[in-house]
Amino acid sequence: MHISENLTGLKSTLPPGVTLVAVSKTKPQELIMEAYATGHRDFGENYVQELADKHEQLPKDIHWHFIGHLQSNKVKYIASFVHLVHGVDSLKLLKEIDKQAAKQKRVIPCLLQVYIASEESKFGFDVAEVQELVASGVLQQLPNISVAGLMGMASNSEDKQLVKAEFGKLAALFQQLGQLSVTGMEMKYLSCGMSGDYRLALEAGSNMLRIGSTIFGERQYGAGK
Ligand SMILES: *Cc1c(COP(=O)(O)O)cnc(C)c1O
Repeated sequence: MHISENLTGLKSTLPPGVTLVAVSKTKPQELIMEAYATGHRDFGENYVQELADKHEQLPKDIHWHFIGHLQSNKVKYIASFVHLVHGVDSLKLLKEIDKQAAKQKRVIPCLLQVYIASEESKFGFDVAEVQELVASGVLQQLPNISVAGLMGMASNSEDKQLVKAEFGKLAALFQQLGQLSVTGMEMKYLSCGMSGDYRLALEAGSNMLRIGSTIFGERQYGAGK
C-alpha cells in the first residue's frame, strides 16, 4: 500500500475546513507512522484497548478520535488523552465521560451519534431524542464534556439517493442545533462520510470524514465496520 500517496492525494481533493480522520483500526503502528510522516495527526480507532496501546506507543502529538461504540465501563481507559469521542449514543455514556473527564481535570469534546440509516444494527439517538436531550437542560449540568457536533453513518447501500437523504437529515439537524444557544454545546463538527460515501457526505455538508480503507487498504482481520 502506498499510504502516503493515498493520504496526500485524498487530502488534496478535500475542500478547506474539512478534517480527515484517518481510520487506523486493526492497522499496525508502522503504517500509522507512514501516515504520520506526511504530517497527518488525526487518527481514528474503534476499540478501546487497541487505542490505549497505540496511544502509549506512538507520538504524543497525535489527535486520537474514538469512533466506535464506547461502553461506559471503558471510558476511564481513554479519558486522559482522547481528542474527540464521536459515537456518544446515550445520556448514561455522556454522564460517564463527564465523570471521567472531571477526574482528569479536562473537558472532553463529544459528538452525539444520530441514527440515520434505514438499517437495523446501527447505534445512535434518533432526531427527536437529540432534540429532547438538548432541550432538557442536562448538558449544562455536565461541565466536563462539550457537545461539539454530530456523527452519523449512512446505510451501507449503493442507492445514492438513499444515502444522500440520510446525510441530508443529519445535516439538517446540525444546522438546526447550530442556531441554538445552549451552554455546553457548540455545533462545530459534522462527522459523516467513510471510504464508500464521503463524496455524498461532503455534498451534504460534512466537515469531518472518517476514512480507513481508502488510505490504508482493506482491513485484513474480521474488524467489521
Ligand atoms: C471503520 C470505520 C470507518 C472507516 O471505514 P472505511 O470504509 O474503511 O473508510 C468510519 N467510521 C466508523 C465508525 C468506522 O468504524
